[in-house]
Amino acid sequence: MEGAFLESNPENKGNIKKIKESVNRFLQQLLEKKVVEWVLTPYINPENPLPERRIITKPEEAIKADPLTPVIPGFPMSTFVSEITREKPISKPLAVLLKPCEAASLVELVKFRQANLDNLLTIGVDCYGSYHVLDFKKMVEEGEKPFERMINALKNNKGDELFRTACKTCLKPVAENTDLNVGIIGVNNLFIQANTSKGTETLKKIGLKIVENKERDQKIKELIEERGEKRKGMFKEFLKELHGLHKLNKFFEDCINCHNCMEVCPICFCKECFFESELHPYVYEKYIKFTIEEGTIQELEGKLQFHLGRLIHMSTSCVSCGLCEQACPQEIKLFKLCGPVSENVQKSFNYRAGEKLEETPPITTFYEEDLGLTEKQAE
Ligand code: SF4
Ligand code: SF4
Ligand code: SF4
Repeated sequence: MEGAFLESNPENKGNIKKIKESVNRFLQQLLEKKVVEWVLTPYINPENPLPERRIITKPEEAIKADPLTPVIPGFPMSTFVSEITREKPISKPLAVLLKPCEAASLVELVKFRQANLDNLLTIGVDCYGSYHVLDFKKMVEEGEKPFERMINALKNNKGDELFRTACKTCLKPVAENTDLNVGIIGVNNLFIQANTSKGTETLKKIGLKIVENKERDQKIKELIEERGEKRKGMFKEFLKELHGLHKLNKFFEDCINCHNCMEVCPICFCKECFFESELHPYVYEKYIKFTIEEGTIQELEGKLQFHLGRLIHMSTSCVSCGLCEQACPQEIKLFKLCGPVSENVQKSFNYRAGEKLEETPPITTFYEEDLGLTEKQAE
């Protein structure tokens, strides 16, 4: 890969904790040199323990940007991009800072024509892991610094027990399909990686020297391999835990059918959800026909149909962000289900969500015969 080291302040060299300042100077330069007119980024508001999403228009505001913050509060950034570009491309050049899972969901949203990349400079930020929004808030309120905690875990390559489950098993520490990446993994100083000609042009406009960085490639590869092993083991356990209707019913026992998991999911973008429409009772009747074989029928309030139906709708494009789990007020460990199921579904279609912009999502082209199912099985 090629890119540039940011060494505008020589004191920062090798000091990864100072990296935040270097990123902000980089964003400032994007605005000063008019590469973009706006920057959409997590932003520090001292009155709020959680970062806010803001569009920065003045270079001096860039010092409050916080794109590397190890938390995704509420909705993913890709949902914001979808909201501002779905109808028509953004009118002014905008740089958007995305964690790798947010960049992946943006790719899926573009494929579904729910977002438009015209006039956007997409900048991925390396992500070693993020904390549950409530853990993050608690840390800040108690005076602990989540960013430094994450950086220390990265430096020692020991992970963090407090990372969200999706993050402990994440195979995308570095964003794919972005113009640039802010690299903190496998480097001693901030590395801005250029992935597209637009990205390379941007670095040149800012006057940065472009160099090769093979060492970073190797370290990223090692991290993904290590996580891959962990993920395999954990997913196997999760599937065992949830195998069968009884275990699934138990899993969703405390679900209050609030649909928060669906609201926050970047892939669940439908304006009108089938499970909130008048058509839903029909499926409920069909479900009762299946459960009658069990001898008893549990009153499910449509919960399981909703979750299984949602899995069918989003599993081909799920990006393993785990935000559904974070949004659940009942603390249901949803990633145990959507993580492994989505991985298996995507494998069966030889598809990886967020990987290739030019690929068609299987849900838009899938026919029952593709999986060799009989008519009865497909039912
Ligand atoms: S799922 Fe991956 S990219 Fe997303 S916040 Fe967690 S570690 Fe970062
Ligand atoms: S189902 Fe959950 S893990 Fe998958 S994309 Fe949606 S919010 Fe993320
Ligand atoms: S967010 Fe939790 S409680 Fe609400 S519908 Fe989803 S699983 Fe059920």
